[in-house]
Amino acid sequence: MSLDHRTGEASVARFERSPLAGWPHVHSIRLPTPWRSNSVQAYLIESDPLTLVDCGLDDRASRIALDTALEGLGYGVEDLRRLVITHYHRDHMGQAASLKSRASSLEILAHVEAAPMLEAFSLGENPNVAGVTDLFLEFGVPAEIVEGIRNWRRAVLDSEPPRCSPTVVDRRLREGDSVVFKDFALDVIHTPGHTAGHLMLHQSDSGVLWSGGQLVSGAIANTENYYTDDRPDPADPLGRRPRFRGLVEYRRSLAGLRRRSIRAILPGYGPPILQPERALREAALFYDVRIQRIERSLRSVSALGEAVSAFEIWRALFPGEDPVKEMWPHLLTVIGALDVLEEQGACITERRADGALVHRHAVRGRG
Ligand SMILES: [Zn+2]
Repeated sequence: MSLDHRTGEASVARFERSPLAGWPHVHSIRLPTPWRSNSVQAYLIESDPLTLVDCGLDDRASRIALDTALEGLGYGVEDLRRLVITHYHRDHMGQAASLKSRASSLEILAHVEAAPMLEAFSLGENPNVAGVTDLFLEFGVPAEIVEGIRNWRRAVLDSEPPRCSPTVVDRRLREGDSVVFKDFALDVIHTPGHTAGHLMLHQSDSGVLWSGGQLVSGAIANTENYYTDDRPDPADPLGRRPRFRGLVEYRRSLAGLRRRSIRAILPGYGPPILQPERALREAALFYDVRIQRIERSLRSVSALGEAVSAFEIWRALFPGEDPVKEMWPHLLTVIGALDVLEEQGACITERRADGALVHRHAVRGRG
């Protein structure tokens, strides 16, 4: 326990020195969030330069928790020299701008594809929020439900503080770059899926992997899916707009990780993962089961000679769910699974007279 000098409130200093055997200079710091996940995990790498991986929300509780943990580890914010951000979600980057204003020589690093999101951070304007309702319309959600979702999201966003500010990114990282310390280096791995510009850090000698929000303890990451261009793809016979297809990318990223030597994972949520092979297998299996379930429902409708929209698949799989408040993550999984099936040649997509996309099952190999 330590005291917050500004308020006198006692707060639990939630950090753990050296949670990984053999890595005495890596410490984990748990920062509170007001959401179901409850907290997010940042890491202090006590080497030269002193480096933080992710930084929690920019609200009072999270700022106090970070200051207190750094203090407990023998440092102040002004000692930080480098911050690596795994992805643009605000619980991982919220405090970046405020840390930069307090630590004058802090260098902020993020993946090149995450940098625009970090530099223009806005709670409601990101394409994965603002554009998703357009995606839902194209995947067959009735216009009045889409309007309901837009109104509900707006009300939710208006009712809460952003807990995050945009931040400059000093160094844009790419796959294969290194984050160099005095005695060792971390390799940058681009792992799109949870977000497009998600990165992990890997120490190849020891097999330690910082996995951000993509591989976490006790849960499976969701994947984003949104338009990346306003104009239709000229190469697409259905005239669809180009999209970030998160589930397709996520599975590809997982397959890439399985080819690396990984002995321990330091995740963005929860304690270290000491059975990384199992965690990778479980993450793949979680989505494989859902993709198979969606393929089965596609096959049964196709057997009747009909095509079905993603919205209709969602309604069949989640009959009791409120489409305005509960559908969002599940419909994104259905759309992601259809993307995977289409890539495998197991799904044929058509455009219905009303403009919505509908899908039929195809036997693999006959495309
Ligand atoms: Zn995230």
